[in-house]
Amino acid sequence: MSDVIIVGGGIGGLSAAFALTRKGLKVQVLERSPEFGEVGAGIQIAPNCTRILSAYGLLDEAKALGVLPVSIIMKDALDGTVLTSLDLKDMERRYGTPYMVIHRSDLHGLFLDACRNAGVDLRTSQQVTKYENTEGGARVWLTDGTAHEARLVIAADGLHSAARKQLVGDEPVNSAYVAYRGAVPIARVRENNISETDVVVYIGPRCHFVQYPLRGGDMFNQVAVFESPKAKAGEEDWGTPDELDAAFAHATENVRCGLPLMWRDRWWRMFDRDPVMTWVYGRIALLGDAAHPPLQYIAQGAIMAIEDGYVLAEHLAANPGNWAAALAAYQAVRPEHCRRVVTASRDWGALWHLDGEKRERRNEIFRARDPRDYSFVDWLYSITALTPAEEPAVFKVIPLDTPVHI
Ligand SMILES: Cc1cc2nc3c(=O)[nH]c(=O)nc-3n(C[C@H](O)[C@H](O)[C@H](O)COP(=O)(O)OP(=O)(O)OC[C@H]3O[C@@H](n4cnc5c(N)ncnc54)[C@H](O)[C@@H]3O)c2cc1C
Repeated sequence: MSDVIIVGGGIGGLSAAFALTRKGLKVQVLERSPEFGEVGAGIQIAPNCTRILSAYGLLDEAKALGVLPVSIIMKDALDGTVLTSLDLKDMERRYGTPYMVIHRSDLHGLFLDACRNAGVDLRTSQQVTKYENTEGGARVWLTDGTAHEARLVIAADGLHSAARKQLVGDEPVNSAYVAYRGAVPIARVRENNISETDVVVYIGPRCHFVQYPLRGGDMFNQVAVFESPKAKAGEEDWGTPDELDAAFAHATENVRCGLPLMWRDRWWRMFDRDPVMTWVYGRIALLGDAAHPPLQYIAQGAIMAIEDGYVLAEHLAANPGNWAAALAAYQAVRPEHCRRVVTASRDWGALWHLDGEKRERRNEIFRARDPRDYSFVDWLYSITALTPAEEPAVFKVIPLDTPVHI
């Protein structure tokens, strides 16, 4: 019998499997798809994630696969002017490890290889339908009627988690926003006045557009996000490409010339969930998007999932054989941190998508900020807290009516 069964082989499940295995636990991963894999778009990973990759001995390989951008530049999506920026080189000095952008399948593949090398029992085509606690652990049931048992079961089965449905019973919250993605060879965008060294984010009324290089600079990733009028009107068929074009019709030219390169046959309707503060049910624990799916505006969803596995592994190692104590320590620190991130992501999205006078006030405040002011990311990037006492205070929101000279 395995010590731990992990349901779901996404970035959350695999990174947790590796974290637990390197602490000496026998781990089995059950993934419903016929193969392990991730979508071929980019992902941003901040210092609170690269610090964990470094602890796992995976940072050098990740760096070889990804790109270390020079800065994050935020621009107005309507007039294209620069609003503010973050100096990522200075940031690396502050937090000790870099801000990185990487192809999702490369990050996922890094954890998959690490799991294989560490001896994780990796199984595909295993769809879990039911969870139950047993005398000394927990059991999962599969669609074919078989059951697997372990001392601990971790549900890392994503936004539409079956475990969450069974244990919590809530539903995802529809934001009425939709994301289009597209990663293309860099040669296809060189004419478009892009930056090959920075993450550039254009923010505008009810929309934003993100660009950054990938795979050592050979590829270019773009993400277009907008509010769907059809979703707001309650129509079933929402987020379609006509809505994409209409949402950015008034955007600056640099954004508009990116739109034809988005994948137009696939889009991601954006849901999160209201935070829940209980993730542990006997010997069954939620992890990753199953526990805390965010809107992705502060790019912490996959990072939180990786942090969950790291924190749980540290507590399991500190409490050998005492599953209840380790789970209590995990439960004590992670739900509150992720509650803060999920709610901050909603607030951040609202700020990005402002229109009219409020947009102008926001722009003034952004233009006045120092690129080396880290007060609004310190609480995210400075530490992955193992205990509530280590958790930093959340940044203080600047009200829109604050005079800019303050
Ligand atoms: C447009 C967009 C951009 C984003 N950008 C960023 C970013 O820059 N940085 C960042 O940190 N995050 C980002 N995120 C968020 C991030 O993608 C997710 O938070 C993260 O991938 C969640 O990982 P997970 O492993 O918890 O879930 P998932 O990736 O959803 O994995 C769940 C796995 O479980 C499997 N599964 C599901 N049900 C079952 C079952 N019943 N039995 C067995 N297996 C099952 C699935 O097949 C899947 O493999 C972004 C999200 C979006 C939509």
